[in-house]
Amino acid sequence: MRVRQGATLTDLAEKINANPAALVTVLFHLGEMATATQSLDEDTFALLGAELGYNVQIVSPEDEDRELLESFDIDLEPDEDDANLVPRPPVVTVMGHVDHGKTKLLDAIRSTDVVAGEAGGITQSIGAYQVRVNLNDEKRPITFIDTPGHEAFTAMRARGAEVTDIAILVVAADDGVMPQTVEALNHAQAANVPIVVAVNKIDKEGANPDKIRGQLTEYGLVPEEYGGDTMFVDISAKQRLHIDELLEAVLLTADAALDLRANPDIDARGVTIEAKLDKGRGAVSTILVERGTLRVGDPIVAGSAYGRVRAMFNEHGENLTEAGPARPALVLGLTNVPSAGDSFIVAPDDRTARQIADKREAAERAALLAKRRKRVSLENLTDVLKEGKVDTLNLILKGDSSGAVEALEDSLLKIDVGDEVALRVIHRGVGAITQNDVNLATVDSAVIIGFNVRPAERVSEIADREGVDMKFYSVIYNAIEDVEAAMKGMLKPIYEEVDLGAAEIRQIFRSSKFGSIAGSIVRSGIIKRGAKARLVRDGVVINGDLSIETLRREKDDVTEVREGYECGINLGFKDITEGDVIETWETREKPRD
Ligand code: GDP
Repeated sequence: MRVRQGATLTDLAEKINANPAALVTVLFHLGEMATATQSLDEDTFALLGAELGYNVQIVSPEDEDRELLESFDIDLEPDEDDANLVPRPPVVTVMGHVDHGKTKLLDAIRSTDVVAGEAGGITQSIGAYQVRVNLNDEKRPITFIDTPGHEAFTAMRARGAEVTDIAILVVAADDGVMPQTVEALNHAQAANVPIVVAVNKIDKEGANPDKIRGQLTEYGLVPEEYGGDTMFVDISAKQRLHIDELLEAVLLTADAALDLRANPDIDARGVTIEAKLDKGRGAVSTILVERGTLRVGDPIVAGSAYGRVRAMFNEHGENLTEAGPARPALVLGLTNVPSAGDSFIVAPDDRTARQIADKREAAERAALLAKRRKRVSLENLTDVLKEGKVDTLNLILKGDSSGAVEALEDSLLKIDVGDEVALRVIHRGVGAITQNDVNLATVDSAVIIGFNVRPAERVSEIADREGVDMKFYSVIYNAIEDVEAAMKGMLKPIYEEVDLGAAEIRQIFRSSKFGSIAGSIVRSGIIKRGAKARLVRDGVVINGDLSIETLRREKDDVTEVREGYECGINLGFKDITEGDVIETWETREKPRD
């Protein structure tokens, strides 16, 4: 008898065709108290199973998924004949302390490989890119994950996606080893990923590369020149010094420490690096092929998203017809947006792809609905806690890209305020907040957090009616602060954001003197000159930090315009288009209760 992780007596009862209440009683006589809807651990199930004559085993979600795929005759770990394996490029993640130059380094590397005549080199940021490096007169590719930092690396690993072969640890020579340097190297070492150290900012006064070597030796990274096996390269990301040497060191380390080979002649399998919803193109995902070759037309499944590869692009914006091992590619054609870290596989046919996706979605939903609790808001969490109604703050996270959602989730889950209250992310996704999210929040008493996204049409009203709390942020740190404060029971909001009104842009006037004027109609409330504003396009916040700089009716400057009237608004922001919504608000002091 097999039950999934987090299963309850009710789940077991259903499987063995028994009455849940009867199982509660049986368990009680065995000396264990549990309700019918409480998740039980393996030992408790084993105890109960022994009494009832079943051998109850708990299956992890991973095992369950593997079994699901096997039921469709998809084997994730087929035996590979050594003869079929060919060398593949290493996949590299850049890590290090904040401000030590990770982003600058990725920029510098991106521009190393600009082939003459190839205008602009890498034109698109698709979440990963490949450059070619000369080593011993041979041009060899290296793949870079374009999200610096160990957060994304760890979040992917947590989902079972081990894409990184080598980590470049950036340490600023004028600063030295810092907390996140150590964190990054711990993560890399835990994942058994070899490290190449880039000692950065050697152009700066006070740079002391030798000190860095000494410091890192204490953490087990012994430089080659001291007899160790870690390559250190002194660079300046800003002045683009020694970038080639660094890339060579990556290849040399890969050759010495790793056997990077894959079979290109089988159905592709790989990982989703990044995914988002694009207005014109639908779900746009960047995938990294781990083995096999992905081709346009292949039916694929990534997490619970599926579809047929309609088109693929590389980081130069060029069309690809196929993508082999370690090749990142932008893929169009999925029906919905997978999460960063979701693995993808090529399915035998469209129907199978869809069935796998549907089954996964059903499994996720079942897991989500496994627990139901009372509704809470960030503000009343402490009261609810006092009454003993809740010990978990359930959150639903929605954001403008899967990377942002992963990062937010990762940071939120790190909040630790002791044992009394835990945090659980019951659902996450990309795009506007939908009615479905609100429904889930109702069932599970969750608070919805929107990161750079807004509710879809009419969803605010539904949330209001259902008493579901929605919070909007554009800075991860602010979200963390609020959630942490709520968990600590210290949230005493003194100021609150009060929505003033919204206007829809109907027409755009370009004026040399005033810039872009948004000819708009006020859809709700009022628009006030000087009010804070955000620009929303299809439910996604394009810019959340604007204000109504000028406001006109006909030719006159006015201080406010009411619902139903037309006006000209200057936001001091150029990227506006017809159909955009300008939402305005002001902060008001909120009386404490
Ligand atoms: P990250 O937080 O690790 O991604 O760091 P950034 O790449 O954003 O760099 C942080 C700051 O350091 C920026 O102001 C960069 O211009 C500066 N910086 C990065 N690399 C160098 C370098 O090699 N030399 C100097 N002088 N400044 C650098």
